[in-house]
Amino acid sequence: MRKIEKVKIILVFLHERYKERHGTQSPFRVLVSTVLSQRTRDEITDIATERLFSLYDTPQKLVDASLWEIEDRIKPVGFYHTKAKRLKEISLILIQRYNGNVPEDIDELLSLPGVGRKTANCVLVYGFGIPALAVDTHVHRISNRVGLVDTRNPHDTEVELSKIVPIREFGFLNTSMVRFGKEICKPLYHLCKTCGIKNICDREIGH
Ligand code: SF4
Repeated sequence: MRKIEKVKIILVFLHERYKERHGTQSPFRVLVSTVLSQRTRDEITDIATERLFSLYDTPQKLVDASLWEIEDRIKPVGFYHTKAKRLKEISLILIQRYNGNVPEDIDELLSLPGVGRKTANCVLVYGFGIPALAVDTHVHRISNRVGLVDTRNPHDTEVELSKIVPIREFGFLNTSMVRFGKEICKPLYHLCKTCGIKNICDREIGH
């Protein structure tokens, strides 16, 4: 089966299973929460973001806060000491270069300390509503398992997926695959018997 046909079937399946579309939040909040999410479970990230933003919801407030205060708010996210420092550095750059705003450009986002492609794409799609393919560990793993791509790293997956996924589906693909990856196509225990796309999955049909 051609990849373009396979991706259509997968998108229909994901739309049926995960009907709601993603909304947008403030770009600064998306940026901060995605930095916090690195190597951290979503539930912990959400709590830490909420605690942090209840006191420090602007770049200026984060710059003015002490490292200790930020760490205290974001614990127990992984690498909280490093992330607290990063958030202060990022906030200072946003103030100095962008008048306290988050830039709407992928190259400028990538120039911020600790911001990789996944984070930058998340800011574009969930902060600004700009189509961008955020490829995290779930999207990378599932895309390879089903046979949409044959890649070794998330960046290559992003490149290959962007050739076959319609632009209007970029944001939805990320949110729905993340949920699918937590519920069915899990990292270790993928529940293939109950999976709705097992008939077209390379992993299951042994390609
Ligand atoms: S059949 Fe198995 S490996 Fe393939 S997408 Fe479904 S759960 Fe993942």
